[in-house]
Parts: sequence; C-alpha cells; structure tokens
Amino acid sequence: MSQSSLTSLKGVGPALARKLEKLNLYRVDDLLFLLPLRYEDRTQLVKIGALQAGNRCLVTGEVLLSETVFRGRRNLLVRISDGSGQLTLRFFHFSRQQQAQFQTGIHITCFGEARRGKSGFEMIHPEYRVIREGQDASTRESLTPIYPATEGVQQGRLRSLTDQALQQMHASPPDELLPTAITGKLGMPSLAHAINYLHRPPPDADVAQIIAGTHPCQQRLAFEELLAHYLSLRKLRALAATEDAIALTDGNEDVSGFVAGLPFSLTTAQDRVVDDILSDLAEPHPMMRLIQGDVGSGKTVVAAIACVKALACGVQAAIMAPTEILAEQHWRSFCDWFRPFGIEPAWLSGSQRAAARRDSLQAISCGSAKLVIGTHALFQEGVDFHRLGLVVIDEQHRFGVHQRMALRDKGVSIDGHPHQLVMTATPIPRTLAMAAYADLDTSVIDELPPGRQPVSTVAVPETRRGEVIERVRSACTSGQQAYWVCPLIEESEVLDYQAAQASYQMLTESLPDLRIGLVHGRMRPAEKERGMTAFKEGVIQLLVATTVIEVGVDVPNASLMIIENAERMGLSQLHQLRGRVGRGETQSHCVLLYKSPLGRIAKQRLLVLRNTNDGFVVAQRDLELRGPGELLGTRQTGLPEYRIANLVRDAELMPKVQIAAELIQKSPTNQATAIIRRWLGDASRYGKV
Ligand code: ADP
Ligand code: MG
Repeated sequence: MSQSSLTSLKGVGPALARKLEKLNLYRVDDLLFLLPLRYEDRTQLVKIGALQAGNRCLVTGEVLLSETVFRGRRNLLVRISDGSGQLTLRFFHFSRQQQAQFQTGIHITCFGEARRGKSGFEMIHPEYRVIREGQDASTRESLTPIYPATEGVQQGRLRSLTDQALQQMHASPPDELLPTAITGKLGMPSLAHAINYLHRPPPDADVAQIIAGTHPCQQRLAFEELLAHYLSLRKLRALAATEDAIALTDGNEDVSGFVAGLPFSLTTAQDRVVDDILSDLAEPHPMMRLIQGDVGSGKTVVAAIACVKALACGVQAAIMAPTEILAEQHWRSFCDWFRPFGIEPAWLSGSQRAAARRDSLQAISCGSAKLVIGTHALFQEGVDFHRLGLVVIDEQHRFGVHQRMALRDKGVSIDGHPHQLVMTATPIPRTLAMAAYADLDTSVIDELPPGRQPVSTVAVPETRRGEVIERVRSACTSGQQAYWVCPLIEESEVLDYQAAQASYQMLTESLPDLRIGLVHGRMRPAEKERGMTAFKEGVIQLLVATTVIEVGVDVPNASLMIIENAERMGLSQLHQLRGRVGRGETQSHCVLLYKSPLGRIAKQRLLVLRNTNDGFVVAQRDLELRGPGELLGTRQTGLPEYRIANLVRDAELMPKVQIAAELIQKSPTNQATAIIRRWLGDASRYGKV
C-alpha cells in the first residue's frame, strides 16, 4: 500500500492537502480507509414514467421546453420527456449561460431526487449533463460513493482521488497480513477486494447491509482494525511483563489479620479478586490489573488489602482518586482500617496548604509515609517516593491508556516499576473491555454485599416538585436521610454553585423543620469534609449537593435520592449518583426530576434507569446511546479513534480478534508489527500507543 503523501496524486497541491488533513487524510492509503457514507445508483436509467417520490435516480430525456417564471423569485423550469412521461427540472440559481443551454430538442441526463410537484414529478437542482451527438447517457458501472464531506472538498474531487488510490492499490496489492486460518475459516474476502468493493460497489450490492455496517467486506476491515489496536495494547502488556518489579511475597498473616478484623466478611467475588491480586503481586514483574465492579460492590476494601500486602513487604503504596472528595472519602476509610495497625496515611492534594504539603512530601520521600492518598497531585513534579511498590488508581474510566502509562513511569525506580491496580465503577461490557483494556488483566466483582436492595427509581416532571419535597419531608421525619442533587452545569463551577445555592434556599424555605446541609465543588476541602461528616453522623438530614457526591460517598442510612435536571446527565453518571443510596437495610428510592419535553435519548436514559439496577446493563445501554468514546472518556484521553470499526456494532468480532491475535503471536511469521503499522501508522500521529 502506498505510504506516499497525498501531494503525489494528480490535482493535489498544498492547499488541498491541508483541507484533506481535516478528514484525517495524510497518505495515499488513508484514502482507501475513508469509506463512503452512502451510495447513489447511477448504474441504470430510470424511466420517467416509473419514478417514485423520494427516489434519487438517473434519468435521461429530450428538452421539450425551458422557461423562467416568477414565483416570489425567478425560477428556471425545464421540461423533459423520455417517451414514458414528463419531468420538470427546477432551478432557483442559474446563469444566463445555463438558461441558454437548455434548448428544445437537446438531450440531457440528470440525477436528483424525484418529488411530486403541481404538474407531475420534479427534480430541484439536479446534477445534469448535456448529451452531445454520438454520446450516450453514460451510466456508471458501479454505485456512486458519497464520502464524508469537508469544507472545500467536493465529492467529485474525493471520487477522483479515491480512483487514483484504488488504481495504485491494484497495481501493487496490499499484503494479506491475517493468517489464512482466520480468513478461510471466517470466509473473509481479501483486503484489496473488500476495499475496492466498499468504494465502488457493483450495481447489485446489498446497500442496506453496507449502510448497516454488517457487510462481509466491512467486517473484514473492521476485524483487521480491531486486531491492530488489540495487538498494540498486547504489545504494551508484553513489554510490562519483561519489566522488573518488587515481588511482594511476605505478609500473608498481616493480610489474614486485616480481613479478620473487618466488620464484615468478604463476598465470594471479593475473595476471588483478592486472590488474583495477591498472586500478581508475588511476581517479580509489575501487576497491571483492572478491577471492574458496580457502585457499592466493595472495591475499596479490596484495594486496601493490596495495600496491607505492600506495607507488610516494606514498600509504599499510593492511592489516587480523580476528585478531592473521593480522595477524602478514601482517606477516611483507610484511616479507620489502618489506624489499629499504627499506620496513619499521608495526604496530598492540589488545594493543600504549602506547609502541609511540604510535610507530606518530606514524609513520602524519606519513607515514613507508608500509605499515601490523594489526587493527581500525587504524581506531579516534586513528588519523590522513597520506595513505591503499589499504585492504586480509582475510577479508572477517567484515565486513558496514556495516563496509565505515565503514572507507571513516574513510579519507576531502581527496583523497577510499581505494581498497578486500577478500579472502575463504570462496568464496561466484556467485549468493549477486551478492546479497550487489552493492556490490563481484568477481574470483575460481580456481586454486591449481602442485604442490598435494588433502588426503586421513578422519573417525575419538575412541575410535580411540590410532591417530591413532601416525600423528602416524610422520609426525613421518619428517621431516614436524603440527598438532593442539583442541576449539573457543564464546565462552570460558578454556575454549579449558584444552582446549588438556589436549591438550598428553596429547600430550607419549604422544609423549615429539617436540618439541611450544602456541599459543592467550590467549598474548601475542610468545609466539604465538615458537611459530609455531619451528614454521615446524622446531624444533617438532607444533603443538598452538586455532583461532587457522584463518586465514593458512603452513608448507609441515606435512602432517598432526588436528582434535579436528570435529563441533562449521562446514564453512567445517573447510575453512579443513584448508587449513593441502597446501601443500608431500608428500601431506597431515587427520583429523577426532569424538565419537559424530554428528547428521545433523554427519555430512553430515564427508562433504562427505571428498569434496571444492574450496572452492566446500564453500561451496555450507555454504550449504545452514546458510543464508546464517551463511555471510556477517550475524548479527553486521546485514545485513537477507530476509522472503520465501531465497538458497539462490531462487538461480537472481539472474541475472534483475540483468537487471531494469539495465532499471529504464535506463528513464525509474526505479522503483528506490520498490522499495527498499517492501521495505527507511525507513533507520532497517534501518540505512543
Ligand atoms: P465501591 O465498589 O463503589 O467503591 P465501596 O468500596 O465504597 O464500593 O463499598 C461500599 C460499602 O460497602 C462500604 O461501606 C463498604 O465498607 C461496604 N462493604 C464492602 N464490602 C463489603 C462486604 N463484603 N460486606 C458488607 N459490606 C461491604
Ligand atoms: Mg469506590
């Protein structure tokens, strides 16, 4: 395939090349992977008498009459006939030249959408061509592709460029990099055939199948692309397996002592995951393990056990959370769990006072701080660990593969890399996890602690806010506690805070007998902490909060959750928020307040939440509604986008992709590098994947 730059093609100068870059086209073979969005059929002429409204088609005919009429503005009308019927072409914009062209008796072909007009069918602004003496109507041999457009690049241009790229491909066909065991077994067409077919499908192609993305030719390409991404992540994984880490083998008694001291016994799922982790930690290579588990499944204690092991082996452990409030929550849990063993965790965050920060940094670098908890600040410049052996990252969906790698590299020392444990509360469908986290080993906590009851969820229009406030009153006066989550205002802490203030005001006025508290993102950590503690201790009955409570807050007595403007939030976020209740013995409820009218997707989201409490089902639906980019947070992390594959549509290919990857890695002619290079290109373009 041709790696040459686009300017090597006829008609491409630097200006056009810049425009093409906007479509992510840099090299000639990139054009081959720019698949059409849809197709038009210009392979056959349609008789005017057989036209149907809405059809886009090619017709030919003799001009009977051409006139300009005034209908508010000037219209050029051209009447043509092919013997089977008559068709009117209508132009609103036209030049004198065009007008002169349509002389009675000449023949033209035109392509456009047939619509019903006042007197028979019309085409508005069709593409047309005058047929000269001796020419015919020039039907095409294949369906006409319509490419994704970019400003200033016409379809005709894209067609001519892809024509050239296809010609080059035919002259030197691309190597088949997939093992024949796979292509044969799955009945896959060759790469060159698949590419050519999708760019220039024959007249009888099943267009509906292509548009749906399920045509064997598309699946062929998607398969290889998924494989390329998978192989590149596995390569990272294999690299890690050759790196050194401190094998954590001692301290089994400490671990059993810690577990025995917990106020509950571990679930079977937690036990299983702890086993996975402990056996990873005993290896002299860095662990890279992902723990998936629904909200409330008890991931934190599992991480704590890993920390016990690390500390018992004389290395430091660091726990990083994406927000201060979540980090604080962990800090509190870890203080409770580790104090009996005489261990006080150190704290590091961005908003810390300089003196406190200096103390923490000092303790971290001399090693007196065994356990460190904090936010991103943990891995900033100036943080020097004495002997870091384990890194725990909570809420992994906010970090992408690059950040994961960067964190690992920060912790590197003469002892090698630290072990890494990442935890996500966004359960990801298995097939998607396979594709996105192929550089990690995965364990799933697929069981909630006993006694949890599903949260019953209702969606209520905000016109019925009064009833909802009553409901809060009755729950709180009967000894329960409630959350009131305020509208999320994108990217503006100030507005977020004002909205929270307004709701707080409204609720204190409507519910004068309740003890109501407020926490929001702009509060100082100490203030937030006071608010949360007061709620936890039951001093506050109703907590008004922004989405800062999204993750990690744990108050079992809270059994009612009101979410305002639920229509503005994503499914996973709503599920996370809802996970704050349903942690105690009483039946919990979640009320989704929404502003009418609901859009189609918003309606679906609220319906999903009403119908299920299962995080995996929620994640699957979220994936379908939003696409994988958002679910995995790849927007922020720069994970490469797929050109052809679609992780939702092509999910069922993943298990086969995995098998293919194994075959390739075992085969003597290992083509992994070539496949990765073909699809991911050079590292500079796609980052360090
Ligand atoms: P998440 O997976 O959402 O991070 P947490 O780790 O915050 O969940 O756990 C939620 C709550 O469940 C915490 O109060 C925790 O102490 C409690 N918990 C964890 N494991 C168990 C268990 N096996 N039995 C009972 N309660 C548990
Ligand atoms: Mg958690």
